[in-house]
Amino acid sequence: AVRVRFAPSPTGFLHLGGLRTALYNYIFAKKHQGSFILRLEDTDQSRLVPGAAENIEDMLEWAGIPPDESPRRGGPMGPYQQSQRLALYAQAAEALLKSGAAYPCFCSPQRLELLKKEALRSHQTPRYDNRCRNLSSAQVAQKLAKNPKPAVRFRLEEAVPAFQDLIHGWTQHEVASVEGDPVILKSDGFPTYHLACVVDDHHMGISHVLRGSEWLISTSKHLLLYQALGWQPPQFAHLPLLLNRDGSKLSKRQGDIFLEHFAATGFLPEALLDIITNCGSGFAENQMGRTLPELTKQFDLTRIACHSALLDLEKLPEFNRLHLQRLVSNETQRRQLVEKLQALVKNTFRNQLQDKGVLDPAYVERIILLRQGHVCRLEDLVSPKYSYLWTRPAVGRAQLGADSEKVDIIAKHVLGLLERAGSSLTQDMLNGELKKLSEGLEGTKYSNVMKLLRVALSGQLQGPPVAEMMVSLGPKEVRERIQKVLS
Ligand code: GLU
Repeated sequence: AVRVRFAPSPTGFLHLGGLRTALYNYIFAKKHQGSFILRLEDTDQSRLVPGAAENIEDMLEWAGIPPDESPRRGGPMGPYQQSQRLALYAQAAEALLKSGAAYPCFCSPQRLELLKKEALRSHQTPRYDNRCRNLSSAQVAQKLAKNPKPAVRFRLEEAVPAFQDLIHGWTQHEVASVEGDPVILKSDGFPTYHLACVVDDHHMGISHVLRGSEWLISTSKHLLLYQALGWQPPQFAHLPLLLNRDGSKLSKRQGDIFLEHFAATGFLPEALLDIITNCGSGFAENQMGRTLPELTKQFDLTRIACHSALLDLEKLPEFNRLHLQRLVSNETQRRQLVEKLQALVKNTFRNQLQDKGVLDPAYVERIILLRQGHVCRLEDLVSPKYSYLWTRPAVGRAQLGADSEKVDIIAKHVLGLLERAGSSLTQDMLNGELKKLSEGLEGTKYSNVMKLLRVALSGQLQGPPVAEMMVSLGPKEVRERIQKVLS
């Protein structure tokens, strides 16, 4: 059975790069009726960020790609947090010590620091000199008496197995000569990434490891560990990196890239999933507006290219607009959007809402239906531009900037027009009628009629076209606003 995992370290909140790795895992699992597992790699206790573990799982749920097994959900192969699996790592380290594939290392932190400094001074990559590799058993016994908790290092073989990465093809990395033997278990009993990852992928029955390509060079080391432990390795697919449009590292350069930020500012999870897959490979074609089921259906791992994916976040509003329109067209989803917009209106305008009629679900729904396609986010509908929809302007005759006689004529004309039109106001009809009105008014320009009506309806000098405002507000609300000016 296909079992894949997303294995972030809770050293930060979930961002777009992490979401993308999680998404490919999720899609791959669903495509093969497999399981998608969330495992938290929290063995580096000094780098933990409070709240990150919760945030990662919350955000996967928000994004609509919840794990099947996770710290929160549990599952048959838990626990799903490495800090709770220390016994398993100790067991594996013990086995490796016994077979001679690993050895205890008694080097002090000071000595290791010195080695590092010396290497850097001569412009070389720091590398452990494998000093403890060949201690005799007598020497080990002697040192153990003084230091009963040594670190454990893995003896890297010179001959590295090649492997077929599902994306990068045949791969093999020289590891022994580069870094020296790595620590796999620290003296405090916590494993390092390489051991923990191999032990967990094995015990959790992971069939495919889909992870960022920054881990490609570590894989040879992992394969040596599998070999030494006598375990069958999973298949590997190293995903291309997600970079900024200019090729720089995805970071705060494009503004906030954390999911929490997008959720809080009204972006739809569907739009995020769409944009982070659209900029990369893995699908037969890249069209905008794809949903998760469509992504799953179209996904093909063999189509993933090695080159990085360049993300252009400036296009996100456009992706969001498309997905918002799609949700509006579905009745159940639309009802949820109505509730969401009602809450937004309440929050944004609070005590300016003299007229509770604007919270009427039928009115809110009509606004959504009329304005969809014109706004990118539901949030845009409570921006200053659209505040006229939700609050009545505090204007009287005096603020209209026209003589009283003209105001009367224009207002009466509009009221008559509303009467005749009934509920069937259209922008075209209104535009024609208002033009006729201004032509009949000697010495009053069309633009002045419009200005007057705009102020009467919204209290503002600028905003959407008057006819659009009238259609959005509806005849009843327009009538009331105009009558207020007359009174
Ligand atoms: N904990 C690693 C990370 O945060 C996971 C690497 C892997 O998937 O093996 O990227």
